[in-house]
Amino acid sequence: LLTALSRDVPHFLAEITAEMDEKVDRGRVADYIPELAAINDRQFGITVALRDGSIHSSGNIKSSFSIQSISKVFTLCLALGKLGDTIWSRVGREPSGSSFNSIVQLEFERGRPRNPLINAGAIGITDLVLAGHEPSEAIGEILRFIRAAAGDESIFVDETVARSESQAGFRNFALAHYMKSFGTLTNTVERVLGVYFHHCAIAMNCVQLAKAGRFLAFGGCNPETGFNIISQERARRIGALMLTCGQYDGSGDFAFRVGLPSKSGVGGGILALAPGKASIAVWSPGLDKQGNSLLGTIALEKLASSMSWSVFNG
Ligand code: GLN
Repeated sequence: LLTALSRDVPHFLAEITAEMDEKVDRGRVADYIPELAAINDRQFGITVALRDGSIHSSGNIKSSFSIQSISKVFTLCLALGKLGDTIWSRVGREPSGSSFNSIVQLEFERGRPRNPLINAGAIGITDLVLAGHEPSEAIGEILRFIRAAAGDESIFVDETVARSESQAGFRNFALAHYMKSFGTLTNTVERVLGVYFHHCAIAMNCVQLAKAGRFLAFGGCNPETGFNIISQERARRIGALMLTCGQYDGSGDFAFRVGLPSKSGVGGGILALAPGKASIAVWSPGLDKQGNSLLGTIALEKLASSMSWSVFNG
């Protein structure tokens, strides 16, 4: 028997996709990573993975896109799994209120980034995941974690995107060198960023991303297999960070409009969690001023409102 939820979702997804296809203002694709600058901004796709294991999609869900900063959620899970709460001596848990690649706060805070979801924080987390390993092993470990979470061995690192970003990643080199000067990176800048650019360059389509993030929406457990990936407490805490920091300096407005813990990436993807109900992946490459998918945010706002999924619903 179909639940009310699974009955309504396909209808709303079709409606939202039709509406997004009509949009003239589609934001701007990220152009500071040359390989992403060439992407066609007409694309839109959305997938919802529900508790009962059903998957509902609409729009372009076949194309894989660069998950970019969405990968920071997975590396955070890995670092917590390896080192537990000791990671919090290296990175904070406060929203930054500045852009994802901002350098100013780092000076005031002596190389301890505000949170693990901005670039500096994620670079610090990557340093922890890398500790004691070769960069290729660390990349392999991150990829294995994501493949296992999604139950999909075909998820891959797009080497062209990784190379493109490493050739143009001047800001990230600046951030990493600055952290290194405070002694808050253990490995060399080159090795840490080598891993960071590769995990940002992991490519997935909407279905793969909704499945990969599903455990975060269900207390750390994949509802289909019953397999625990992280503890319930960690899933809850990561959700809190996604809600407060997941869209950088757009996090407050995103919570106001959508009300779901989410993580965006400059590839135009967003992973959103309706805790206990659904994992949602949406993709449209055009970004708003804060670097979050413009249409992805509008689509999530509509879906969350139609389904009454905001975590603030009474
Ligand atoms: N790889 C990108 C960067 O470091 C990730 C940024 C993002 O997705 N917001 O600039």
